[in-house]
This record gives sequence, C-alpha cells and structure tokens, in this order.
Amino acid sequence: MKINIMTLFPEMCESVLSESIIGRAREKGFIEINCINIRDYSTDKHNRVDDSPYGGGMGMLMQTQPISDCYDAICEKSGKKSHLIYLSPCGEVLTQKKVKELALLDEITLLCGHYEGIDQRVIDSIVDEQISVGDYVLTGGEIPALIVADSVARMIPGVLPNDEAKELESHYDGLLEYPQYTRPYEWKGEKVPDVLLSGHHENIGKWRREQSLLMTAKLRPDMLKKAELSKEDRKFLTDNGFENLIK
Ligand code: SAM
Repeated sequence: MKINIMTLFPEMCESVLSESIIGRAREKGFIEINCINIRDYSTDKHNRVDDSPYGGGMGMLMQTQPISDCYDAICEKSGKKSHLIYLSPCGEVLTQKKVKELALLDEITLLCGHYEGIDQRVIDSIVDEQISVGDYVLTGGEIPALIVADSVARMIPGVLPNDEAKELESHYDGLLEYPQYTRPYEWKGEKVPDVLLSGHHENIGKWRREQSLLMTAKLRPDMLKKAELSKEDRKFLTDNGFENLIK
C-alpha cells in the first residue's frame, strides 16, 4: 500500500514515520509512505501558500493552486486519481471500521490543512472524503494524518511483527481488550490472576473474553450495545448485572 501525505511540514511527519514499527515496515518495503511539501508546488514568487479569507475574519487560508498542483503531481506519478482524504474537524470521526476500509485501498493521499484551513473549492473539487480525529480542533492536519497513516499501516500484512496480534486488540471486533500482565508476579501486594499462570489455554481464553466484556461494559457501554455477542456472552453479562446494555 502507498500513503502520500500532503503537508507544509514534511519533516514533522517524516520524523514520526521513520521510527519504530512503521519505520521498519517502510525500510522492509511492506508499506510506502511519501511526505510531500505542498509549498514546493507554489507558483508564487515568494512561495506563498496562504492568503486572508474573503469576507474578512481572523487568520489565513491555504490557497487552491499549491494544493491542486501538488495533488495533480501525485496522481500523475501514480497514473490514477489517488483517493484524497482531507483531515478536518468537519469530517466523519475516525473509527477502527473506517481504518479497516482504508487499508483495503492500494493508495490513499492525506491532505493536512493549517491556519484556518483550506479554500472550500479544493474540498468541493478534488477531496473524496473528510476525516476528523475527534470533536476538538488542532493547529494543523499533521497529527491527524499521522494517526490515520499509523492506524492504516498496522492493518497491512507484514507491518506488525505478529500479524494476528491486531485482531485481539481493542476495537477490532467491537470490544475493548482484556487486561494484561507481565513480570513480576506480585507488585505492591497485587498478584497476577491465577488463571493466567495455569497453562490451560481454554480457561485463559474464556477468562480473557469475559474480562473483555466486563471492560467494555464498564468503560464503553455504548460499544457493547453494537457488539456481536454470543449466547454465552449474553448470559455472562446478565449474570454480572449488565443486561440493560445488551441489544
Ligand atoms: N477553521 C477550521 C474549523 O473551524 O473547522 C479549523 C482549522 S484547524 C485550526 C487547521 C487544520 O487542522 C485543519 O485544516 C485540519 O487539517 C486540521 N485539524 C484540526 N482539528 C482537526 C481534527 N479534529 N481532525 C482532523 N483534522 C483537524
């Protein structure tokens, strides 16, 4: 998969994406990520990319020309229209479901806004969808783009050291992950649950599923209402006083 990030701060994105798991996956060729400087495409003699908004008001807006030309260059290189996502507080809030859908595409391009945002005509003419990372406002689209790039990249086979691990993690199947423990066995008087030392895989699996249900019921009851639950899951939740959360 290829992820292009259109930004005024490519070094900021590059510094995060060259480290750790994603950095290694890029080096090994499991994923291609390109951080592209929108300013390089400005035709202004001072390389300007922003101007004040029509109608007045505070702040500056990113102009159409540099963004449009930068995007055209990306599409020309790819030989097709790359799926363009504008990171925006006005977009659909990112979920694991959306991340899985994006990971099925062979290429996406992430457009980072800055200042007051971008000229609406760019959104209307070339943006395929808008994604938000939550109902709050950040100073720029770089952190949201990094969130999308990281969450999508880890869905690509080979990127994670252990590919099956992602399927056990929070949100993958609509529940939160069960609690986990490592050495030491006892810390400040608190011991690791005995079942995890039993070596009995079936009992450990059952305990983890139940803990996952309990964590979700207590911390994210809204998720439990939408989750796919078995007969055993329903009985366990009912026995533990959460029958009101089952659909
Ligand atoms: N004037 C815009 C508004 O009120 O909707 C906010 C602009 S914000 C200060 C600058 C840029 O940060 C946006 O163009 C967008 O790319 C990015 N941004 C800020 N908050 C975001 C969020 N919650 N999700 C995704 N992108 C965000």
